[in-house]
Amino acid sequence: MARAQKYLNYIGGRWVPAKGGKTFPNVNPADKKELIGLFPESGPEDVDRAVEAAEGAFPEWRLIPPPRRGEIILEAGLLLKEHKEELARLMTREMGKVLRETRGDVQEAIDMALYAAGEGRRLFGQTTTSELQNKFAMSIRMPVGVSGLITPWNFPMAIPSWKIFPALVCGNTLVFKPAEDTPLSALKFVEILEKAGLPKGVLNLVHGGPSTGEAIVRHPRIRLISFTGSCEVGRLVGEHCGKTLKRCSLEMGGKNAQIVMKDADLDLALEGAVWGAFGTTGQRCTATSRIFVQEGIFSKFKREFIARSRRIKIGGGLKKGIEMGPLINEVQRERVHDYVEIGKKEGAKLEIGGRFARWKGLERGFFYEPTIFTGVNPKMRIAQEEIFGPVTCLVSFKRFEDALRMVNDVSYGLSSSLYSRDVNSAMNAIRDIEAGITYVNGPTIGAEVHLPFGGVKNTGNGHREAGETALDIFSEWKSVFIDYSGKLQKAQIDVD
Ligand code: NAD
Repeated sequence: MARAQKYLNYIGGRWVPAKGGKTFPNVNPADKKELIGLFPESGPEDVDRAVEAAEGAFPEWRLIPPPRRGEIILEAGLLLKEHKEELARLMTREMGKVLRETRGDVQEAIDMALYAAGEGRRLFGQTTTSELQNKFAMSIRMPVGVSGLITPWNFPMAIPSWKIFPALVCGNTLVFKPAEDTPLSALKFVEILEKAGLPKGVLNLVHGGPSTGEAIVRHPRIRLISFTGSCEVGRLVGEHCGKTLKRCSLEMGGKNAQIVMKDADLDLALEGAVWGAFGTTGQRCTATSRIFVQEGIFSKFKREFIARSRRIKIGGGLKKGIEMGPLINEVQRERVHDYVEIGKKEGAKLEIGGRFARWKGLERGFFYEPTIFTGVNPKMRIAQEEIFGPVTCLVSFKRFEDALRMVNDVSYGLSSSLYSRDVNSAMNAIRDIEAGITYVNGPTIGAEVHLPFGGVKNTGNGHREAGETALDIFSEWKSVFIDYSGKLQKAQIDVD
């Protein structure tokens, strides 16, 4: 076996090992025998060095004109474009999703680069009137300062790009900890920014797991935490930030639903359901884990949905024709399987799947079959909790209002979708579904970078990534008044 390649942290513009010298392995989820590399297991002392570097770089970076900052981001976007194919291939080896999807992941980072680069020439504030004569009023954006970014593994480049590019254009300096299952994609992303000309210390990469993340969250000189991941961890992050009054943006899980009305284009709805439930092996925060189908078409939809799901080709994501890759790791596969067992015990009917996919060629990967439950009571745990795997629940309903009630009856509120040809149902769904995203005649998955992304209820804490709203996470507002009257003017005080 070839010697494992050792990768490094990137701190203050230098590639360095963890101070403690410890490393952790990263394997290919489609073939656990394939070691991708060893990565630094960073401790609080490494986080400290990264914060110091980010603090050191901040005074200069914040004063670089935003259009110049935008040019570096644009250059990074162009480099990502140039290397798209090799980055996508590497990401499939590391994360497992099929090549078509990892190309999309890199593309999303390219899109975000182009979008954020343009913000360098906008970062609009307001100019407005004043209630007093000879007084000028405006609002401007200011950077927050040293920011900690913590990301999950399911979008190894797209999610870091949603944070890093807007944070940089706003003038912040960063300490970035990617998920321990996808450190190489993150490292390549940082290399691209280094090559694009980002000054030393502006972006610092520290690898590691939960304890490294915790050290970032707890670091007293980090002013902002931007976290994407599970609700369980998000809650811990939010608690600490609440106590220390640290600015904090949380993007967390979902239990997303698709409604299919009797009048829908059935073929389209089926296509959307298969893609929404089993794309990325169900490991998307926006994955369709509940499908509500109106009585009258339920049996037909069920039959066809099962038939199409059975045909999904499972395997290593680099192989041609493969449609669904493995789960990210053994722990996640066990977790998915535990949920299937819970569903069976709760009395739901397992229609297909519910098993490790172990046929020839898949023995060494964390593969799982597409799994469909019917006979699901919406109160069951499988219909309420995020499973994050290729498992979905098919439920029938009578009236649109019944579907709406069940869709909203979960603690999450990320994405949702309605298939119908009736404009009235569409408008009602848009108005009444409690979610940050609603698609009409499209699946629950598929974001675009220039629109706000995030959710309501337990999915988030009120922020939105992407779009212009991302700037509100990564900048502080300042109101500015310029009084050119030459005398003391008092707002709200009556003149005697
Ligand atoms: P996770 O919460 O286990 O880990 C996310 C990140 O937090 C990782 O980098 C991890 O190392 C770090 N971490 C773990 N414990 C920590 C702690 N105590 N303090 C600080 N950091 C800690 O999530 P995951 O398994 O990597 O990702 C899957 C989850 O992410 C799902 O719930 C999914 O819905 C969610 N997600 C949400 C969005 C969104 O935008 N809403 C997008 C993608 C994924």
